[in-house]
Amino acid sequence: MAEIRLEGVGHSYDGGRTWALRPTTWTWADGRAYALLGPSGCGKTTLLNIVSGLLTPTVGRVWFGDRDVTGVPTARRDIAQVFQFPVLYEEMSVYDNLAFPLRNRGHPKAAVDERVRRVARLLGLEDQLGRRSRRLDPGRQQIVSLGRGLVRPEVAAVLLDEPLTVVDPALKWTLRSKLKEIQRDTRHTLVYVTHDQTEALTFADEVVVLNEGRIVQTGPPAELFLSPAHEFVGHFIGSPGMNVLPAEVADGLVRVGGVVAGRPARELPPGPVRLGVRPEFVRPTARPLSPGVAARVTGVDRMGSHDLVRAEVGGHPLVARTEPGAAPAEPYFHFERAFLFRDEVRCGELAALEGS
Ligand code: ATP
Repeated sequence: MAEIRLEGVGHSYDGGRTWALRPTTWTWADGRAYALLGPSGCGKTTLLNIVSGLLTPTVGRVWFGDRDVTGVPTARRDIAQVFQFPVLYEEMSVYDNLAFPLRNRGHPKAAVDERVRRVARLLGLEDQLGRRSRRLDPGRQQIVSLGRGLVRPEVAAVLLDEPLTVVDPALKWTLRSKLKEIQRDTRHTLVYVTHDQTEALTFADEVVVLNEGRIVQTGPPAELFLSPAHEFVGHFIGSPGMNVLPAEVADGLVRVGGVVAGRPARELPPGPVRLGVRPEFVRPTARPLSPGVAARVTGVDRMGSHDLVRAEVGGHPLVARTEPGAAPAEPYFHFERAFLFRDEVRCGELAALEGS
């Protein structure tokens, strides 16, 4: 296994007029699990295909350790791939499907058996090993495909492109955490493409968020949630995503439509900003106990596990996520972890006013 390094790698399908992936320099550390997360068309598959060798980048070099693999075809990159749909030898047993990638590379029989049984145990396939693959339902077939992807210990990386699409929701839940467990056990470098934030957040050591062909932020799941460096990350991660309110910095204060929301935690040049705060960190507050932002409650959506309190600050909508049944009557909201953005990039943090 090896570290994977992209050196100024970019791809354009139309001779450089637009970039499916803008030139990017990036390193994936050996043995970690990465998720590539972003909306449709953001460049996830383009990036994955460049790493797998299905696509040669328009610019830049791809390195596996100290080996420049930029022009090396997929078959000679020593990677494993799992796609959206099962890729199996249907007439072979589950055991033989799992053993195939190892036998094909001349692994000794005992090592093949040990490895197949270990991966089967990790994926809950022990009692399916003798079955013909075509007799399994598509979800189980996909689990066998996952097993084939994970069975070779020596691959440089395992690349997975939306691998849980055909797996039914209940099983998906189990598999997501299992995959994480397996990765810890096998210590593969895993790169997992998804547009589903839950999949990315439960599985990855590090999430790479892409938008419009650009990596906008990378980090552990909690960091992306608690500390978005870019407005897009705030929107895209979270359910619902971060509130973003047009605001103004002037006289050491931050105002939203004339309403004072706080002050910049550190000095910031005056002018327009956007204030971002996640619904989880907007709390209705009783004014005498705590300073708050004046807001008007416009409605409550009862979601069962939580409520979404809809409000308005200075004419702009704001959502707070609260305990179910929490009284939304208080016309003040306390903001925690509120950030300021300029040109979509974080430029500061909001601090509350003392005793206001
Ligand atoms: P999805 O989740 O829908 O697969 P993605 O994030 O994987 O999307 P890519 O498939 O990498 O995105 O596409 C990135 C951009 O490149 C998109 O604007 C897409 O339209 C464009 N693109 C992808 N493949 C081609 C191609 N073969 N020819 C021209 N443009 C392409």
